[in-house]
Amino acid sequence: MADEHRRAETIAAANGIGTDTAFGAVTPPLYLSTTYTFAEFEKARAYDYARLGNPTRDQLADTLAKLEGGARAVVVASGMAALDLALSSLRPGDLLVAPHDCYGGTHRLLSMRAERGHYRVAFVDQTDETALRAALAEGPRIVLTETPSNPLMRIVDIRRTTALAKAAGALSVVDNTFLSPALQQPIALGADLVVHSTTKFLNGHSDVIGGAVVAAEATLGDELAAWANTIGVTGSPFDAYLTLRGVRTLFPRVERQQRNAGAVAAFLAAHPAVARVYYPGLPDHPGHAIAKAQQRGFGAMLSAEIAGGREAVRRLVGALRVFTLAESLGGIESLIAHPVTMTHAAMDPQARERAGLGDGLVRLSVGLEAEDDLLADLGRALDAVARG
Ligand code: PLP
Repeated sequence: MADEHRRAETIAAANGIGTDTAFGAVTPPLYLSTTYTFAEFEKARAYDYARLGNPTRDQLADTLAKLEGGARAVVVASGMAALDLALSSLRPGDLLVAPHDCYGGTHRLLSMRAERGHYRVAFVDQTDETALRAALAEGPRIVLTETPSNPLMRIVDIRRTTALAKAAGALSVVDNTFLSPALQQPIALGADLVVHSTTKFLNGHSDVIGGAVVAAEATLGDELAAWANTIGVTGSPFDAYLTLRGVRTLFPRVERQQRNAGAVAAFLAAHPAVARVYYPGLPDHPGHAIAKAQQRGFGAMLSAEIAGGREAVRRLVGALRVFTLAESLGGIESLIAHPVTMTHAAMDPQARERAGLGDGLVRLSVGLEAEDDLLADLGRALDAVARG
């Protein structure tokens, strides 16, 4: 069966399986060599030096490009490197429109690049079309979108935003980390580039830092691949091997994790110690209808406002036994984070306030544990918070 007719689940599970020509290994081998023999003088083979190209990394890139419906993927050392690479065409004076409530590390990267004069950045609430149109009227070169956003799960209409960006002559870059291609494919909705922290759902086992940029068009993908080699940010082969192993189970992991997340969201929404739950799967979430239209599921991430602020959060995380207090997300284990003191601590307090990140906010990445254990853990810990 030709690859283009294979379903995404089949690509994730089996792309590259059984292609080893040396020994017929079913699982594609891991090539760690940094350098490759020349066939003869002046005649390189398919690979010569591993910063530029590596068979294991290329196998991951090929799989990610197919899963996102893009022409080419570039696998790099981290999600931050992927974002920086995707924005590398910006010149001094160029304007970047970015989400006002993006991941804290993204906010820091863009702010520091702007501070150094590498480009200008306007942080905009992209769910507000008037604000978005006003920013687009300034003639940006790139519009960066993160949806669902980290950590408030705001949903941006990708089709609408990419169409408006295109009409304004801007390139659209979408960070798809929170959902993975199993649940959302931004290229089909008009994005020019998709960015991933493969550290999260794609690898899925909290043991690799990695990133990828997927380009809708080969020309832009080729340019980014060449620049990634020039600045030396391509990912390590061993990390690519582990990430591809994680991708094999992407669909069943995400399916099960989002089922757990739906149950956790409903449970939290009904608990008196919780003031508010942010999960796009809840019908009262402001982005529910758009999420339903552009996503294949509501994902395994959610956040919640704990009544009683920081002190209540301190008691909650101290009482939890199944959820672990840690940054990051998308792994098989359930994690809880306090954005103000952890993932978004790098954001200045005004920017945090503008993004709506309060002291009582916690972010949950829901894993593969039994639903009953997750709910019992939260119930016991929240009861302890309510008792004071
Ligand atoms: N994009 C999003 C949405 C993230 O949540 C993160 C990290 O949490 C990143 C990018 C950065 O990825 P990495 O930590 O792999 O550099």
